[in-house]
Amino acid sequence: MRATELQQVVVLGATGSIGLSTLDVLNRHTDRFALHTITAHRSVKKMLELVLTYQPVQAVMACPNAAEELASQLPSESPTRVIGGAQALIDAASAADVDIVMAAIVGFAGLRPTLAAAEHGKRLLLANKEALVSAGRVFMEATRTGGATLLPIDSEHNAMFQCIPANTQGRPQSAGVEKILLTASGGPFRGRRRMELVNVTPEEACAHPNWSMGRKISVDSATLLNKGLELAEACWLFDCTPNDIDVVVHPQSIIHSLVRYDDGSVLAQLGNPDMRTPIAYGLSWPERIEAGVSPLDLVSVAKLDFEAPDLDAFPCLRLAQEAITQPGGMCVLNAANEIAVAAFLEGELGFTGIDNVIAHALESVSSSEPESLEAVENLDGRARVCAQERIHQLARDTGGV
Ligand code: NAD
Ligand code: MG
Repeated sequence: MRATELQQVVVLGATGSIGLSTLDVLNRHTDRFALHTITAHRSVKKMLELVLTYQPVQAVMACPNAAEELASQLPSESPTRVIGGAQALIDAASAADVDIVMAAIVGFAGLRPTLAAAEHGKRLLLANKEALVSAGRVFMEATRTGGATLLPIDSEHNAMFQCIPANTQGRPQSAGVEKILLTASGGPFRGRRRMELVNVTPEEACAHPNWSMGRKISVDSATLLNKGLELAEACWLFDCTPNDIDVVVHPQSIIHSLVRYDDGSVLAQLGNPDMRTPIAYGLSWPERIEAGVSPLDLVSVAKLDFEAPDLDAFPCLRLAQEAITQPGGMCVLNAANEIAVAAFLEGELGFTGIDNVIAHALESVSSSEPESLEAVENLDGRARVCAQERIHQLARDTGGV
């Protein structure tokens, strides 16, 4: 980083929930950060608004047609350069004059630009957990050889990061960490039995009680698959195994995770459920900056509850616990889940069909630990085909489970 200059920031997935929260935090600190590039998939209307409001140097649309449309709608005096295509995202994430990359594309689609930021030694703010979970070994190796600073933005992992001393991150056991306690809200269907989940709708699944998020992660929270992705994410980030981590349901989402030490101490990070807190910490670490988040009022929160996750009603978490131990298992699980969630959101698959599709893919797709980006993409592609076939089969057999 150039000491006296503004830090140049790229926001991948700027039109999404995390992207918008990031722009909000950056906009509070224009004395520290400058917006180099914002990217989106194909939503021209949302991107146009952002370009006019924030005037980044570059706006990149992954879809080339959307880039042309955006360029045609921008006033001629706009300072923002519009570029289109997948390579433009990778180029922005690895540009020499960029200091910080916020990886907030949803799903496996974010892997290549996120990996590029890792390979080029950026301060990498990781929200895109699917990239890490699918490509774990390749991703961590790229981070190490590229000299990137990897900062977790997922609220739970950001909490763990805050509760483990910085100089021992990556080997928490050496700091006396006995267990990591990964909290889960339980999602909108907490307390229901499996039979009561068969007919739930996408709108009900996306209505999270505490967090306002994109539709894909909202469904993942409702199935508890999100907690499975987060378990794998924590294993990679903190160099531990699933046995080192317990999942605890905490419906209020005030404690974002905890770390238990050998001496009996338990450290937790608390805060209102607002992603601007972990985003601000990622941007400013090891310092702290104002994030626009209202102060936590413990008296109005009144109580904090805890319970065990119900793995019978929500088998996705158990599937993930098993997949983590299989070579390439999380890559298969993630791909099958992305296909299944898209089908659920389109009304082509029932809610309880999601775990059915994932279980089928895990049984059917043979894999070894992928050692290269190409191997990861190949495995991801095979799992997607398998999941899609299963969805068609379920639709034929039962009308969609
Ligand atoms: P979102 O759906 O609101 O936004 C996704 C963004 O990715 C959009 O800008 C979209 O244009 C872009 N995008 C989608 N497909 C793309 C493609 N094929 N190519 C290029 N860009 C593409 O999602 P979100 O809720 O902001 O989540 C983003 C990531 O952050 C996810 O991986 C999610 O798991 C993670 N995350 C989100 C939250 C949250 O509170 N929303 C919390 C923790 C982690
Ligand atoms: Mg999370």
